[in-house]
Amino acid sequence: MNLCDIKTIKQIMAMFSLNFRKEFGQNFLTDISVVEDISDNCCDDASSSILEIGPGIGSLTACLAERYDSVVALEIDRGLIPVLKYTLGDYRNVTVINEDVMKADIEGILAPYFEKGKVSVCANLPYYITTPILMRLLECGLPFEYITIMIQSEVADRLCAAPGGKNCGAITAVLNYYGTAEKLFEVKADRFIPAPKVDSAVVRIKLHKDKPYKPLDEATFFRTIRAAFEQRRKTLPNALSAVFGELSKDEITDIIVSCGHSADIRGERLSTADFATLSDALYRAIKKI
Ligand code: SAM
Repeated sequence: MNLCDIKTIKQIMAMFSLNFRKEFGQNFLTDISVVEDISDNCCDDASSSILEIGPGIGSLTACLAERYDSVVALEIDRGLIPVLKYTLGDYRNVTVINEDVMKADIEGILAPYFEKGKVSVCANLPYYITTPILMRLLECGLPFEYITIMIQSEVADRLCAAPGGKNCGAITAVLNYYGTAEKLFEVKADRFIPAPKVDSAVVRIKLHKDKPYKPLDEATFFRTIRAAFEQRRKTLPNALSAVFGELSKDEITDIIVSCGHSADIRGERLSTADFATLSDALYRAIKKI
């Protein structure tokens, strides 16, 4: 069964009386070569387990199951569970769980797979919730090897941007704290049913085994990044003083200059390493240590 064939997808949806649910970001892939490329490149160790988010009718899931030791797929839409039983029934190494990834106990679900070996994530993510899902995967602290995601092209550019570039945003600096992102390839909107309004891209994130930046206080580190990008047209002293009420604007300016930056720098010029140094200095000033 070719689960990327448009006629087959429509037949399966009709057979189970289902419609594509916009509220769940259901845009299914219709190009088997894209599905194969994602599966081939999401991980470099066939003995790995893969967490898939949003299997849909199971096209990517089947391809992953053929390449890797096991696949755990979390699908929010209860209506798709009987479909997945039908399409993936022959794959003994696939476990489908009817859960919302934002609420699921990912750590508990994956514990037996981490005991067996490496675990990576691979997903064609629903657009409506891309960043929250990515942040959940990064913040849950699980030692994933890779996180490979298909996302809107514009978001992919932001994840992979260099500091100082026009595409750089808070997510760029945060992502670099957890790993290194690489854009693998673009996928045109007409490769999906229904076709989304924008093109997509596949991004692979290799997570740092040992984080290169170790801020004194993670909360202050993330607060600094958020503040710097919240008002990106403002200079950094102005942007930070809007958020760090504990310090005067003069104190903040002095701290920025003491970290080697000019007083009129904008936050987007800073790298993740710069944010770590700056947030340490802010933290010390706030705590008077
Ligand atoms: N993997 C399939 C493919 O590539 O054709 C479907 C991808 S589709 C873009 C996104 C999938 O994620 C849908 O099956 C949708 O129901 C599911 N989904 C949406 N929100 C979810 C959530 N919070 N947790 C788990 N699955 C979700």
